[in-house]
Amino acid sequence: MHIHLLTLFPEVCIPYLDTSIVGRAQKSGNLTISLHDIRDYAANPHNVTDDTPYGGGGGMIIKPEPVFAAVESIGGWADETSETILLTPQGRLFSQDTAHELVKLDQIILIAGRYEGFDERIRKYLATDEISVGDYVVTGGELPALIIVDAVARLIPGVLGAVGAAAQDSHGASGMLEHPHYTRPVNFRGWDVPDVLLSGNHEKIANWRIKQSLRRTWQRRPELLLDTQLSEYEKEFIAELAEESVVK
Ligand code: SAM
Repeated sequence: MHIHLLTLFPEVCIPYLDTSIVGRAQKSGNLTISLHDIRDYAANPHNVTDDTPYGGGGGMIIKPEPVFAAVESIGGWADETSETILLTPQGRLFSQDTAHELVKLDQIILIAGRYEGFDERIRKYLATDEISVGDYVVTGGELPALIIVDAVARLIPGVLGAVGAAAQDSHGASGMLEHPHYTRPVNFRGWDVPDVLLSGNHEKIANWRIKQSLRRTWQRRPELLLDTQLSEYEKEFIAELAEESVVK
């Protein structure tokens, strides 16, 4: 997988991309990330990449020429296995399902905006997808792009150490929220680790984790359960939780 990130501020992306799992994914050869400074593609003496909006109004608009030139300099940009994604609060909402979709591609080109956003012709004639990381507006597309890079990198086989770790995470294979975790010490300020986790009984621990995961999902994000294949045992437990909440 090759991810290209086009930005006016590559320097803010470098520390994150060089650190921890994303950094290691690149070192181990599982992922290649190329940062492109949009300014380098501005074919004018002062490397101007933005201009005032036609029709008036405040803010600056990112010009089409340098963005088209940057994308068109990338090999395979027009291939079917490459997507050119505009980061915008107007795009489809990013989710774990979107990350699973993207990890199947050979190449992703992420375009981070700034100021008032992009000249509309970039959206219409260059981007093949538009993604938002949530219904809020941040100053630039760099953080949204890094979120996508990170979520996709974790899904590349071999990137996470523990086998199946991504599958067990919240929004993983089960579609539910993950169970709680505890580590040493056994007692912290009078708060104990649940006995079952110290029991050494793997079956009981697995059962406790499933129930905790179901309980959390039921309490915090019940709508996730609608898309989850539950066993009879799990359905019975959910029925108990429902009864509990009626009694309360
Ligand atoms: N005027 C734009 C609008 O109302 O749609 C917002 C521009 S925003 C201040 C500047 C840039 O930040 C955008 O071009 C986009 O790349 C990025 N951005 C801001 N919020 C975002 C979000 N929720 N998801 C993805 N990108 C976002």
